[in-house]
Amino acid sequence: MKLDVDVLRYLSKDDFRVLTAVEMGMRNHEIVPSELVHRIASLKHGGTYKVLKNLLRYKLLHHDSSKSVGRQLGVGKESDIFEVAREDGTVLAMKLHRLGRTSFRAVKSKRDYLRHRNSYNWLYLSRLAALKEFAFMKALEDHGFPVPNAVDCNRHCVIMSLVQGYPLVQVNQLQNPDSVFETIIGLVVRLAEHGLIHCDFNEFNIMIDDDEKVTMIDFPQMVSVSHQNAQMYFDRDVECIFKFFRKRFHLNFQETTDGDDGSDIDTDEGSRLSFASISKTAGFLDKELAASGFTRKDQDVIQKFIGGSIEESGSDDEGSDDGNESETNETNVDGLDSLHLAEQDVIHKNPDLNSKKEGVSEENQQN
Ligand code: ADP
Ligand code: MG
Repeated sequence: MKLDVDVLRYLSKDDFRVLTAVEMGMRNHEIVPSELVHRIASLKHGGTYKVLKNLLRYKLLHHDSSKSVGRQLGVGKESDIFEVAREDGTVLAMKLHRLGRTSFRAVKSKRDYLRHRNSYNWLYLSRLAALKEFAFMKALEDHGFPVPNAVDCNRHCVIMSLVQGYPLVQVNQLQNPDSVFETIIGLVVRLAEHGLIHCDFNEFNIMIDDDEKVTMIDFPQMVSVSHQNAQMYFDRDVECIFKFFRKRFHLNFQETTDGDDGSDIDTDEGSRLSFASISKTAGFLDKELAASGFTRKDQDVIQKFIGGSIEESGSDDEGSDDGNESETNETNVDGLDSLHLAEQDVIHKNPDLNSKKEGVSEENQQN
């Protein structure tokens, strides 16, 4: 789906009003009922529905009748994943980012900052995360990495192909654990050779199918090998995999010297895969991506928020064997806060929506 940007030049006040109403509705609806849009926009004589029809025609909105939303595939730390279908029945996966709605440890630590610059609401951050994920997925796919096919991206939503298989964390037995391990470590290395580090490379973000084919997912936190903490992120990704394979599939790595508790990863494992030598020859994909739609500024903003959470994340496999990513329960308080900011932001930028009804209808009559 390509957006015809020309139509943007001819949008009327009412069009913007309805788009804004949809955005406001999105603060507590994944898909906003048209009745709610009508109530928020409060255009006269069913005007909202006429405008909605136009916006749909110009592809400025999606209508859910063109897709069907099915079962929930997963709940991540910062997203919900649903099965969706095209009109022709092709089943795809839809990832709805909700950065800052539940990932509050990161947002919380930036709250003063948020208060100061309240334009960073969850929708804005989630949109950046989606945009970044889409750009990275596409680039990785183009360079032959086993990732889902990036189909489309709109606001905080990414549509991608459905991965047949399960997250590695749910798998207790493998036919060929050694070769799966090699493949996975090979991916981390190949990523670095391309100038990138996944930064959340663990058993939750690696999918595996019945033929033991590996697909990696979840890209919003990726960084360039030129990032100041690149070495640390790279080592951590590598260590997560070593640790998981040792614990779950009992692989023995000669280099490791630590005790039975498996708690301490010998850094020799990381240094065997020398980041310095890999990254020396690395890098073009990170620059390519920087040149794509995802700007340096976007990267900096998102890094501020995801940065906080990737510092703390990584595979904490002590006690995480149940297959659930630890979700904090701090959700509501902070979530409401950032939703509130989102609303203020929308209203602030569209003072119309705050004006009295009479004023609004007068204005409409003039048009
Ligand atoms: P988060 O960034 O919130 O961790 P992920 O992209 O890791 O989100 O997705 C969360 C879960 O959803 C995954 O662990 C996986 O089980 C499922 N999932 C994600 N993408 C797909 C996909 N393309 N096909 C099938 N399942 C998926
Ligand atoms: Mg994930």
